[in-house]
Amino acid sequence: MSVPSMRARRGGRAKDDSRRFFVRQHCSASRRSATKRCKKCRVESVAALRHIRDIGRSPAHRRCGILGGGQRPARRACNDARAVNHAERELKGGRMQYRAMGSTGMEVSALGMGTMRLPLREGGQGYTSSRGADVERSVELIRHAIDSGITYFDTAFNYLHGESEKIIGKALQDGYRERALIATKSPIWMIEGEDDFDRLLRKQLDRLQTDYIDVYLLHSVMEKDWRNRVLPHRVVESLLAAKEAGLVKHIGFSFHDRMDLFREVIDYADWDVCQLQLNYLDRGFQGGLEAARLAADKGIGVMVMEPLRGGHLVNVPADVRETFRTADPDRSPVEWAFDFLWDLPEVSLVLSGMGSPEEVDIDCAYADRARAGMLSPEEHAVFDAVERQFAAYPTIPCTGCNYCAGCPQGVTIPYNLQTYNQYVLSGDIERAKWEYATTIPLNGATAGACIGCGECEERCPQKIPVGEWMPKIDELFA
Ligand code: SF4
Ligand code: SF4
Repeated sequence: MSVPSMRARRGGRAKDDSRRFFVRQHCSASRRSATKRCKKCRVESVAALRHIRDIGRSPAHRRCGILGGGQRPARRACNDARAVNHAERELKGGRMQYRAMGSTGMEVSALGMGTMRLPLREGGQGYTSSRGADVERSVELIRHAIDSGITYFDTAFNYLHGESEKIIGKALQDGYRERALIATKSPIWMIEGEDDFDRLLRKQLDRLQTDYIDVYLLHSVMEKDWRNRVLPHRVVESLLAAKEAGLVKHIGFSFHDRMDLFREVIDYADWDVCQLQLNYLDRGFQGGLEAARLAADKGIGVMVMEPLRGGHLVNVPADVRETFRTADPDRSPVEWAFDFLWDLPEVSLVLSGMGSPEEVDIDCAYADRARAGMLSPEEHAVFDAVERQFAAYPTIPCTGCNYCAGCPQGVTIPYNLQTYNQYVLSGDIERAKWEYATTIPLNGATAGACIGCGECEERCPQKIPVGEWMPKIDELFA
């Protein structure tokens, strides 16, 4: 597939850079063998930033000479990336972009921070939260995000077993509360009577150490909970009463189901906001673009979750990467994914689960230029091309949300699905077998332990037939 190069169109940035920077040999092991260093402030430029970010988020990281395999060199490089971002934004006069949240009167940063995957105690991130969050690092991370211009922080009752809300509560002390909007969600699957909504909300206010929540959403609305819990237990009416009482400022719902249910839900109440799964591969999934347009037409603020589809759009297959590179050698797959969403006038905010200060800096640098209508028709054609290429890789659409946690057999479901997906994308079965035999058992049971009870499937927002996949995965890798 041949896509016309957009470099010339975006060449203003490259020309400016070339006047400011000189080329310095820096990373011999990577494809981009030369990075650039600023004559004035002595930190590396945009090209270096992108290089470090790309390798920092991919397995190629380990192969790169600048980073080495150990933690300390990696950390040094990441510190470089942080300096690069600040310098880049400073030099370009960049700043966070803010958008209206529908007709609520609220203005929010174009980039919001998701807090489902905060840094874990051992320093890594993963699907399971059994290790517990590293509170100190998480608090620092949230405050760093606020200092970088992010105003919107998304959490939920069940994120990190409640630790996420507590950490946000802690991070927003010392004057930070006034600078941030808190969005959290009511766990509708836990509501069994009319009093439950208020009880859970009180607990959340307590965890968050606040008198009010800026945005309160019904969490993960799906047909079953909508019919069996929300409607019979008058949950929306309780939500409206909480707004009336000033305990929540704006109300909405996050959604994971068909478009016809979306229409029913959106017509049920006078919502302020909604949160949808959207990315360039999910334009038609669970309402997708159609739902975003319908909500925006009604003045409802649209927040986007899963912009990178749980990481699928980060480490993209080689041919997809090549299509993006041909279109614009200076733009990474992650940037393309964000740009797709920020281009949409219907979108108020894109949520990203940033796990380190470096990722905050990098995503903020991207958000500096987030503009509705920022993409050309040629750039839109790139998304159509990569969507066709992705079709050749039949991965399982698991986002790693871990809502399926609690398998009676102890199966760590997302780890098993992710191993399969990596195999589909790379074709490396030996690597997958090794992961299956050594890494997955460190976190729980492998797919072979599944008895197909289907408990997890009821909780999966992506409606993945986990019980069918597990025997297939076991047969492939055991
Ligand atoms: S279907 Fe399999 S993986 Fe899912 S809960 Fe049951 S045993 Fe666990
Ligand atoms: S299987 Fe479903 S619920 Fe479990 S992590 Fe994947 S997307 Fe989330």
